[in-house]
Amino acid sequence: MINVNFKNHFTVQWRSFAQLAFLDRQISGFFIFLAIAFVSVWSAFAAIIAVLINNSLSLIIKDYTLQEWRLGIAGYNGAIIGMYWGDSILSIKGLCLFLITLLVCLFLEFRLRALLIPRQLPVLSLPAMLSILVIVLTISIFSFDPNYLFFTGKAVPILQTYSREIAIILVVSAMAYQYPLATLQTLGVSLVGGLIAQWFTGLNFYALVDLWAINLPLAYFSIKTLFLKHSSLSTLAATMNTLLAGCIWFFWLITGLEQLSAPLLFPFILSSLITLIFFRRYKDHNLLQSELWRTFQLLLLNRLKAKHCVAITGSGIRKGALPDYPSGQWLDPKVPITSYTLAEFKASKRCRYLYWKASYDYYQQALTMNKNNIDKQLDSLLNYYLSGLFTETVDSLLTNEQHPIYECYGSIKNLYCLDCAQQQAWPPVPLWLQRDLHCQHCSGLLKPQILAADENIDPECYQALQTNMANCGSLLVIGVPAVTPVVSMIIENANANKIPIIFIGTLPSTYLLEAKDIQLTGDIANWLTNINWFTNILHPLKWYCKWKK
Ligand SMILES: [Zn+2]
Repeated sequence: MINVNFKNHFTVQWRSFAQLAFLDRQISGFFIFLAIAFVSVWSAFAAIIAVLINNSLSLIIKDYTLQEWRLGIAGYNGAIIGMYWGDSILSIKGLCLFLITLLVCLFLEFRLRALLIPRQLPVLSLPAMLSILVIVLTISIFSFDPNYLFFTGKAVPILQTYSREIAIILVVSAMAYQYPLATLQTLGVSLVGGLIAQWFTGLNFYALVDLWAINLPLAYFSIKTLFLKHSSLSTLAATMNTLLAGCIWFFWLITGLEQLSAPLLFPFILSSLITLIFFRRYKDHNLLQSELWRTFQLLLLNRLKAKHCVAITGSGIRKGALPDYPSGQWLDPKVPITSYTLAEFKASKRCRYLYWKASYDYYQQALTMNKNNIDKQLDSLLNYYLSGLFTETVDSLLTNEQHPIYECYGSIKNLYCLDCAQQQAWPPVPLWLQRDLHCQHCSGLLKPQILAADENIDPECYQALQTNMANCGSLLVIGVPAVTPVVSMIIENANANKIPIIFIGTLPSTYLLEAKDIQLTGDIANWLTNINWFTNILHPLKWYCKWKK
């Protein structure tokens, strides 16, 4: 096995150095090695020895997969230990400490991987940091030499003055070679972080070098280019990680932990583990969905432009507890759907019976329903934000005292006269089983006040729809499972006027989302709660802007 991999060996050593900056190219590793050598020749020397030892041992003890080994992941913890002890290895004591730390590191790496990998967390440079801390604390407890408490290496830079600057340029070049844009962002973020820390702590910019040159860049760069590379939230997560790393570093400073040990890479390691755990747990949370923030942006723009927001809801707001009305789920499947038209209702006594029967069953089901959380959210949205609310449901559960709610297909809770259109309540006993029901005013035929397939939408509702869409800034389509004629009309109106549509719950089947549209999939009540929360924040804006509601 070792022979087979021997030809890879050379590449792997350089890649281990590249891994120090979360890169995996040979040339990047060489640049980083040069950077270390510019700061301290002996650190570079010790680092390459440690990398060789770790990579070779890892092939024997097989703590890494071949794939990981090839990427150089087995070696970078050794490189850190080499860098730490590098300036001391010329003495026997220093050399012993270096080798012991390396052994402790290998052991910790083995244990930490067994602990963290099943939890989908990387070990980062935790083994190196912990082993250094263990050794340094052991020395100080047994008082061999308190000087080892601090990293007081006798560094031998190649150049007297500009070594550190050249080292930073080399590392940044290696990073930019693989990820130019992320490197630029990282530079900006860490410089800002460094300047803020300088202003905040009053310390010299160079005294803060481990903050802005090591912890902050790694915190940003690693999340952005590796750990959450493919997530749409990588920039947010990377920024939060950088902030957290800065806070931990500052905590280290003010609590006096620094007396015990320099922060080294601990702020970066701790913040990254916290960020990754937090992200894995909450990545599906509404507030972490970019679509919700697009929605907020849209709502804010609408408010500033004094544009209205119109909503149409469908059977999705009943969470499947009531059959979908427009698709005819409530009708007897054994009866042909053509028997349920208004023409048949007028013409045939049998069809009237069938219509009454299906309607009465639906009415009974609707009576058992209570307002759910979605109704409450819609109610408050209607009070503070919506200019109009249209619904495809016929259960009349949505009610509001101040604002009308348009039930596009009528209400199952009423009857109406086919001649004079007067409304009436259901009779307390099912009289329709025996005979036709007639209007109290004109003796015309009564019918449940829901639209049959061949009936047209109520002109008042149609008019309200047109008026509302005229000054509409965004359209909410909530829990609408399919494109019905009414939905089609309202969506076509929005598309023709380039009005963004926010689909909440589900996307109507066969509808193709446009770039201007937003899709919030999942629990409707949760999304509406978030939107309500945001519109409440927007509410005071009405004092500053001309807002018509
Ligand atoms: Zn009548």
